[in-house]
Amino acid sequence: MDFALTAEQEELRRAVATVCEKFAEPYWQRLDREKRYPEEFVRALSEGGWLAALIPTEYGGAGLGMIEASLILEEINASGGNGAACHAVMYTMGALVRHGSEEQKRRYLPEIASGRLRLQSMAVTEPQAGSDTARITTFARKESDGYLLNGQKVFTSRVQHSDLMLVLARTTPIDRVIKKTDGMSLFLVDLHRAGSSIEVRPIETMVNHETNSLFINDLALPAEALVGEEGSGFRQVLDGLNAERILIASESVGDARWFLQQSISYAKERVVFGRPIGANQGIQFPIARAFMHTQAASLMRLRAAASFDAGKPSGAEANTAKLLASEAAWEAAEVAMTTHGGSGMTVEAGIERKFREARLYLVAPVTNNLVMAYVAEHVLGLPRSYGMEGIG
Ligand SMILES: Cc1cc2nc3c(=O)[nH]c(=O)nc-3n(C[C@H](O)[C@H](O)[C@H](O)COP(=O)(O)OP(=O)(O)OC[C@H]3O[C@@H](n4cnc5c(N)ncnc54)[C@H](O)[C@@H]3O)c2cc1C
Repeated sequence: MDFALTAEQEELRRAVATVCEKFAEPYWQRLDREKRYPEEFVRALSEGGWLAALIPTEYGGAGLGMIEASLILEEINASGGNGAACHAVMYTMGALVRHGSEEQKRRYLPEIASGRLRLQSMAVTEPQAGSDTARITTFARKESDGYLLNGQKVFTSRVQHSDLMLVLARTTPIDRVIKKTDGMSLFLVDLHRAGSSIEVRPIETMVNHETNSLFINDLALPAEALVGEEGSGFRQVLDGLNAERILIASESVGDARWFLQQSISYAKERVVFGRPIGANQGIQFPIARAFMHTQAASLMRLRAAASFDAGKPSGAEANTAKLLASEAAWEAAEVAMTTHGGSGMTVEAGIERKFREARLYLVAPVTNNLVMAYVAEHVLGLPRSYGMEGIG
């Protein structure tokens, strides 16, 4: 068992870090202040082909694996940046790769790989359903030449910076299916064609994340917009969730590395009571502990990515990695705040921005409570605590 990265993977890390060096702390602070999308950063990553890591080479992508994709996102967040602006293209197009028709793949994947088209948005969450996805009510009614979509979504991120969006909708009402996760379908929506059928209302949040409420009124979709099999949308989304969890865990590992680096530097240079604060065990032990938790989370994330790449079931590993990494990042964030004293609260230090950003991953894309419920039931065989079919 070898836990070391290959020379190529180390090289990939360095190459991504080189791109990120051009987008230093002042860039991210300015965006945060202006609540602006990192357009220039996303363009630089697309031009370097980094966002096409998981698209097979036959469709113009890099054909890399989950380990490489996770290293790319880790490096972005470890540099002080925020991969959330563009991570969705990596996991949303997984649904297209695995379940799309050959026609859909040939039409969209090369365009996505080149960066000419962006698939950055996925609308699953609804105000009334919350974590209980089977309770969504957005409905796609079958018409002679396609579907008519109506409903409401919440927390749909990056719609304004996407050309395409995946939407999960019911095609059969919940009271007419045997299993409540049946009867949902996945649609690929061309946002330019949607026009006024989708009203987008931005939601102000504590992070610069561009998330929105969507009000969908009589959106006409062609039959070709359906991805995969009608009625199997939930399973198709589930299929991509392990990838999503591994990638989010990687961003959290990157965040934790960044917080630790800031803490270590400050603890060495800040002198109080005549010595560096890092000489005090009250400061150095929490840093050491957060470092060890980050290392453990990172290993679990690599194990999850390796299982995923080997085509093995990876629900237990991906969920475990997501919880451990988001908690390690949050612990490192707290430690950085403590280490920096009052300076941690200044905008200039950047800690408070990352602090807010790291908090998100305890909640999204799935809350850690539901991750624990998954592990308790599906890995440990404990009785089911809620009515979902399984989220891993
Ligand atoms: C900034 C941001 C961006 C997002 N982007 C997207 C996006 O692009 N697309 C998208 O579809 N969604 C997105 N989301 C939504 C996100 O996935 C949900 O917020 C998350 O899944 C939780 O759902 P909820 O907010 O409805 O919480 P709820 O389901 O209402 O849960 C509230 C609390 O109760 C707990 N809880 C609920 N049921 C149980 C139970 N049985 N046992 C124990 N605890 C329970 C939860 O863990 C949580 O702590 C985003 C959210 C945010 C904040």
